[in-house]
Amino acid sequence: MLKIGLIGVGHLGKIHLKCIRLAREAYDLVGIYDSDKELAKRVADDYHTTAFPSLEALIAAVEVVDVVTPTSTHFAVVKAALEGDSHVFVEKPLTETLDEARELIDLSRRSGKLVQVGHVERFNPALLALGDVPVQPYFIEAHRLAMFNPRGTDVSVILDLMIHDLDIVLKLANDEVAEVRASGVAVLSNTPDIVNARLEFRNGAVANLTASRVSLKNMRKVRLFQRDAYISLDLLEKESQVVRLFNPGATDLPEQGQQFPLETPRGPRIIHVDQPASGPVNAIQMELESLAASIRDNRPAAVSIEDGYRALELAQRIAEAVAENQARMPDPLS
Ligand code: NAD
Repeated sequence: MLKIGLIGVGHLGKIHLKCIRLAREAYDLVGIYDSDKELAKRVADDYHTTAFPSLEALIAAVEVVDVVTPTSTHFAVVKAALEGDSHVFVEKPLTETLDEARELIDLSRRSGKLVQVGHVERFNPALLALGDVPVQPYFIEAHRLAMFNPRGTDVSVILDLMIHDLDIVLKLANDEVAEVRASGVAVLSNTPDIVNARLEFRNGAVANLTASRVSLKNMRKVRLFQRDAYISLDLLEKESQVVRLFNPGATDLPEQGQQFPLETPRGPRIIHVDQPASGPVNAIQMELESLAASIRDNRPAAVSIEDGYRALELAQRIAEAVAENQARMPDPLS
């Protein structure tokens, strides 16, 4: 069992606290630290744990820290943890700037300590259910729409919401982004609240992503179109659908699911429709447990610090494309 300390016990930190307790075979919770001392004391009393007087004191007492503080503080807190010889789980996005992220990558390599980034959608049952379904998308469509909530508006919707889909798209497309086009509007806050980005990968695949935090409804969908399959992931409902084309008599036709014959201009085919399910999971508990397993087995983190960097770098490119696009748009008030 690894000794763990939780840093930041705000909205998401309290959820992490419960998940650390659930991951009892992986972690022994030593205590918490929050710069809001009164909050830390209250939470420590409620959850029967210890509120440490300083960040340094908690880092010195544990082997792993779980960082759930505002993004603007990730760099300083993760740096202190790595310098204190601790493995790190840090909520997404990794840092505010690429320079900070690069410095942390450097530090983690020199210290030999693991850093896992909280791109929690990797552990969404809809995605996990794909299992060994071959994924090689030509076109990806992602929609992440949320109703307005002032929490998180200190950063643009790209870093707040779209970054989840950027990590998924980078993982699924498995290639480098050659070109970025984007447009966005600041509707209620001072940074873009709704953004659309079109990414073209080196291999020609295209991803079209929309993220909004000023929507009237919530939606989190990713759809993949490929040569012989259509894959639909509903990350909110945690459901997936896989529609695949097979040749009649194919030996790899899955047993579960439904199949229909179809005449096509290329001859007869079988359409196979499946709704694979991975069963209910607690994604935060699972991501925390996966870090413990990586530490134990001495293997890379499931969502590595380099993955966190790639998502952040792409988010930055999209933010620059939005700014360029805005500079070209005529100002309706002038
Ligand atoms: P929050 O404001 O509710 O809580 C942050 C807590 O950190 C507060 O209690 C604050 O007092 C404390 N804090 C601030 N600076 C600190 C410091 N230097 N040292 C110790 N404690 C400090 O924020 P939140 O909504 O819980 O978000 C926290 C992080 O989680 C952010 O990085 C956010 O992007 C991320 N987040 C991720 C998801 C997800 O889906 N993975 C969802 C929401 C938030």
